[in-house]
Amino acid sequence: MGKYDFITAELAELKAQGLYNTIRTIGSSVGAWTVVDGKKVLNMCSNNYLGFANDPRLKEAARRAVDEYGVGPAAVRSIAGTMSLHVEFERKLAAFKGAEDAISFQSGFCANLAAIPALVGAGHALFTDELNHASIIDGCRLTKAERVIYPHRDVDALAKALREHRDAPRKLIVTDGVFSMDGDLAPLPGIVEVAEEFDAMVMVDDAHGEGVLGSHGRGIADHFGLQGRVDIEMGTLSKAFGVMGGYLAGKREIVEYLRQRARPFLFSSASTPADVAACLAAVSVLEETDGPVRKLWDNARYFKARMGKLGFDLGSSETPITPVMLGEAATAWEFSRKLFAKDVFVQAIVFPTVPRGKARLRVMVSAVHTKEDLDFAVDAFARVGRELGTI
Ligand SMILES: *Cc1c(COP(=O)(O)O)cnc(C)c1O
Repeated sequence: MGKYDFITAELAELKAQGLYNTIRTIGSSVGAWTVVDGKKVLNMCSNNYLGFANDPRLKEAARRAVDEYGVGPAAVRSIAGTMSLHVEFERKLAAFKGAEDAISFQSGFCANLAAIPALVGAGHALFTDELNHASIIDGCRLTKAERVIYPHRDVDALAKALREHRDAPRKLIVTDGVFSMDGDLAPLPGIVEVAEEFDAMVMVDDAHGEGVLGSHGRGIADHFGLQGRVDIEMGTLSKAFGVMGGYLAGKREIVEYLRQRARPFLFSSASTPADVAACLAAVSVLEETDGPVRKLWDNARYFKARMGKLGFDLGSSETPITPVMLGEAATAWEFSRKLFAKDVFVQAIVFPTVPRGKARLRVMVSAVHTKEDLDFAVDAFARVGRELGTI
C-alpha cells in the first residue's frame, strides 16, 4: 500500500463517474470572445456580467494605483496600517449599497468565512438555506453555533425553526440572495419579516445580485426595497465588478465589530492597490450609468427566449444566470466538449457543485455579448442538443 493510494483511487473514481474536472487554460483577457486552450471561443460561462474584467476605465485605475501605491499592501491592515485607497473604497461602496459602513476582504469566500463565526458561536443558533454557496457552508462549519439547515427558500420552515430556537441569545439567518447555480432568488422580504419577529440577524450573500439586481446594480436589498432591514450584506468584487475581492456591508456596529473580530481581516493581508482601485472605478461607472446592467438583462432575456423556444430545460432562474439542465454528469461534459468544438465555451457543472443527477451547463450571458454572439451560441446549442437528443 502506498501512502497516496487513496488519492489515485479517488481520482480514478471521479474519472469513471464523469466527475473529473478538466480545467481549461485562458490565454487572453476575459471578454465575450476569449482565448481558451489556444483558440478564440465565445465565452458563455464567466461571471463577467458587465464586461468589467477588461474594461479600459478599470484597467487605467489599476495602472495608476500601481504607480502611486505599488503592487502589494505589505500588511495585515490591523497590524501595519491600511491604505487610504481601501478606506476610500469602503466608504464609496457603503454609499453605493445604501449601507452604513463596509469592510473589504481578499475574496467573497473570505468574507463569508469572516462574518459567520464572528457573529455567532457556542450557544447561538444559525439558520442556513440548504442550497447556500460552499463558502457559506464553510463559514457555518467554523462556528460552534447550532446549525439549522432549512429547505430551499422555505420561509415557513425557517419561521418554525426560529420559534423552536427562540431562546438562543443570538440568531443569524444566512442565505444566498441569488442562488448561484439555479439563478432563483431568496424570498428576502419574508425572511426579513420572520427575522424581525424573532429578533434574528439576517445576512444575505449578494455575489450574483451585485451589478445585476436593483437600481444601477445595487443588489438584492435594493431590488426588494429592504435597505436598512438586512443586517449584513456580503458581496464579491470578482463577478459583476470584474476584479477580485469581497466585502461585508451593513449596520455600523456590525462592521465596526468585524474590524475587531473578523479573522481573515486580522490575520490575512489586504487586497492589492490595483484591485481596490479597479473596484473603485467599477463603483464610479455604476453610479454614473445603468447602461451595462440594462444591456445584461436585455441579452439574458433574448438568449433565454431563444433557448426556451428550442425546448431546452432552463430550470427556474429569475436572473441572467441560465442553467441548461442536462441530468447526468457525463452528458453535461459531452455537451460542453461538443460546444467547444463549435467554438463556444461553457463548462459543465456537476456534483458536488450541484446535486447528483442535476448536472447542467450554466450559461452566463454578459453585457458585452452582441446579438450576433448570442445567435452564434444558440445555434451551437441547437445543433449539439439535437445531436445528443436533449431537444
Ligand atoms: C462566487 C461566490 C462566492 C465567492 O466569491 P469569490 O469572490 O469568488 O471568492 C460567494 N458566494 C457566492 C454565492 C458565490 O457565487
